[in-house]
Amino acid sequence: MNDIIIGIDLGTTNSEVAIVEQGKARVIAAGGNKILPSFVGIDDNGEVIVGETARNQYLVYPERTVKSIKRLMGQDTHVKLAGQSFTPQEISAIILKRLKAAAEQDLGHSVNKAVITVPAYFSDAQRQATREAGEIAGLEVVRMINEPTAAALAYGAGQQEAKRMLVYDLGGGTFDVSVVNIESGVVEVLASHGDNHLGGDDFDEQIVDFLLTHLREHHQADASGDSKAMARITRAAEQAKLQLSDQPYTRIEEEHLLQHQGSTIHLSVELSRMAYEEMIEDYINATLDAVHIALKGAKLTASNIDEIILVGGSTRTPCIRERLFNEFGFEPHGEVDPDLCVALGAATQAAMVAGQQVDTVLVDVTPYTYGTSAIGTLNGQYYPFMFVPVIHKNSALPIRKTEAFMTSYDGQEKVEIAIYQGEDPDALNNIEIGEFEVSGLRDVKAGNIITLTLDLDLNGILHVSAQEKATGLEKSITIKNALSRLEGATLDKAKQRITSLFGQLESDPEKFKEKSAAEPEPTAPEIIGAHELIAKAESLFDQVSAEDKEDMIDLIETISNCIDTGDIEGLEEPVEQLNDIIYYLES
Ligand code: AMP
Repeated sequence: MNDIIIGIDLGTTNSEVAIVEQGKARVIAAGGNKILPSFVGIDDNGEVIVGETARNQYLVYPERTVKSIKRLMGQDTHVKLAGQSFTPQEISAIILKRLKAAAEQDLGHSVNKAVITVPAYFSDAQRQATREAGEIAGLEVVRMINEPTAAALAYGAGQQEAKRMLVYDLGGGTFDVSVVNIESGVVEVLASHGDNHLGGDDFDEQIVDFLLTHLREHHQADASGDSKAMARITRAAEQAKLQLSDQPYTRIEEEHLLQHQGSTIHLSVELSRMAYEEMIEDYINATLDAVHIALKGAKLTASNIDEIILVGGSTRTPCIRERLFNEFGFEPHGEVDPDLCVALGAATQAAMVAGQQVDTVLVDVTPYTYGTSAIGTLNGQYYPFMFVPVIHKNSALPIRKTEAFMTSYDGQEKVEIAIYQGEDPDALNNIEIGEFEVSGLRDVKAGNIITLTLDLDLNGILHVSAQEKATGLEKSITIKNALSRLEGATLDKAKQRITSLFGQLESDPEKFKEKSAAEPEPTAPEIIGAHELIAKAESLFDQVSAEDKEDMIDLIETISNCIDTGDIEGLEEPVEQLNDIIYYLES
């Protein structure tokens, strides 16, 4: 079939090509990779290079390499490449030609038509330049569609009932947010806003600055003038950023990075997600300001938005999802690969133009959120079972995520970890699907870091492991059928657990009766009282001196041991002592 139309996302940082076959949209790999960096260069032999090779060359030979040509589209200008002059259309055409060749190789026949996406804000001149680039590459551009429209199409907008979507697109060098309206399968961009110079590259630069500062402060060395070292630092910074999207810490290591005053410098430094997120906070704030401007432009408020779609590789940064969740009150969609979403939408549009049947882009996602509980605040109150999500609902499978937690008191030698499935901020309202304990922790002050990794595969098998960061001490469990909504016996067990934990605080005698009936062996009042006392003592921890806290922890431990062994008599003395301390603290 020679009249196949390909869909192309011609991006500032990366470009992709996709097609629809037997109703399914798929991205075609160009040179082994689905993502083609939008870099063009001339190599040592005078040959044109595109993609990853050009991107690597850019770090060392920027004068022979061009990046972000999209920013110049529509301008009457030229770029110099190894002494030769090119228009922006010509450079873009080289990228398009590479994508066209990849599609032809994959399909086994020539391709002459394409749908190409452009930002919603592109002017007529910019659109015209894009069309010309297509022509130079030997492609008839049958349709040019807005990127947010393509993203919405990838999420099945063409077949959907009326709704309003917010498309949040944060790539390597640009940020765009659009409000789109979908009615009878027609997607219309109501308003768009963004920043042409904001993206993942800025995040990389923050990490590069952090690394340069580290080298200056710890090795008294300035790497900024050494282009080879800078190339390595830049690459390491991006790698670190990618890792911090899935784990709370990363170690950046570059051996033999540079020579300084006759000695070799090896770079080795740890970066936490928390520190990194502080570095990029201003940028994220700027994107949220833009979200509000776009909403205002569409004469809507956050409550009018039905769905949020995440587009662009940088939206994998966890705090972006969190901030949008806080702003809108629901989870954004990110299940269609955010790097490939626009290309898949372009292919969907291309198939529609060609009169082909198209199914929605379906991916395997988790329908539930998985996480654990930790001490925190719920409705502004101290609460020991705050739900902490680790894998979010609608994440594409398989997925592996790690989060960090801290021990809450000095000398804590074990942590009990419960894994829950659900969306409620109160972990006890979610379904507990597994629990385990890590004991033998180091005898150190509160704040000992424990990392928790959840790894969920396509078959619904959830591997959970917890590790004491400083020693590597690890414990893990496997939970089968984690994707099914647990019902029946498991639900009853979870309910019972909640009742037994809360029953002690229950003042309604009717409810208390219910609880007693469900539990054949009612908990002794001494034990109930001891639990209450412990909760009270723990709630006072941040107001007491280190010395008092230490005494309290010792007593809590003794009391807990008595509770565990059912030693009611043994409870009397430590309970009295702890009561005395609390009385003294409160008086
Ligand atoms: P795009 O222009 O949409 O292809 O996005 C490219 C940007 O996404 C680059 O800055 C990448 O470093 C960034 N990116 C890709 N994957 C991740 C990730 N897992 N976490 C954070 N940023 C990412």
